Amino acid sequence: MDARVVITIVLRVRALRTECGSWSGAASARRLLMPARETEAIILKTFPLGEADRLVSFLGRASGRVRGVAAGARRIKNRYGSTLEVLSHVQIWYVEKETRELVRIQQADLLESFHKAQSDYGLSTGLAVISEISELILPEHEVSEPMFRLILLAAREVERTGDWSLPLSYFAFWTVRLGGWLPRFDRCVACDAPFGQHPAFYDAHQAGLFCEKCRRPGMKPLHLEARNLAERFAGERLDRIAYEKSMQASARELREAALSWIEHHVERRLMTRELLESA
Ligand SMILES: [Zn+2]
Repeated sequence: MDARVVITIVLRVRALRTECGSWSGAASARRLLMPARETEAIILKTFPLGEADRLVSFLGRASGRVRGVAAGARRIKNRYGSTLEVLSHVQIWYVEKETRELVRIQQADLLESFHKAQSDYGLSTGLAVISEISELILPEHEVSEPMFRLILLAAREVERTGDWSLPLSYFAFWTVRLGGWLPRFDRCVACDAPFGQHPAFYDAHQAGLFCEKCRRPGMKPLHLEARNLAERFAGERLDRIAYEKSMQASARELREAALSWIEHHVERRLMTRELLESA
């Protein structure tokens, strides 16, 4: 979400508050009767809102991606505690308004904390990449069980292993695969020549993999080992793959290729991608 969007939302919330102030008693009574919705959710992002509140974007298992306001979440004593951290796994209660895009968050209970990853700068960088990508590719209010499970699995593995290399590579690969943007891994998209043992090439400007002959300037290689790792990712669960030192280069190559295809698809640079280099 860029600054302009945040400002628009802030203005809308202000308008909403003004409106709330002028509501008649009957309207307030109706509002109180609105039933709260409840869903298991993953917190994607939060932004400070005004003096005391937080804007929260979450992916609900039953609701899809939703944005809402957690009133009072910035006060020192607040009822949300540490539930609103990036990628926290929570149970969330909120009230929806038909005509407004922001819901009102009433309560959030922590189901699973990724405290170690959230509080470590290097590890939290990995979580931030997952959060940014999810925020960009998931349409609002669209349930996505596979993405929900993927995000949770990746966050759990960052927390468990204390290393984002393999989880992030797996997450990026599967995001591309679930999005339907995965190119053929065995032959050139331009001339159809099989790669065999040779490296394939990619960049963020096109969707496919290219052979040595068709590669364009600036393209980066995806070696056979990285393509083999992709095959393992496609068939094995992340938490059953043991990360060995020898996989480091392949995991990195595959992650970089997948991030480039994501950038190609969303037509913008991922802001968190650069941070990976320094984390
Ligand atoms: Zn070719």
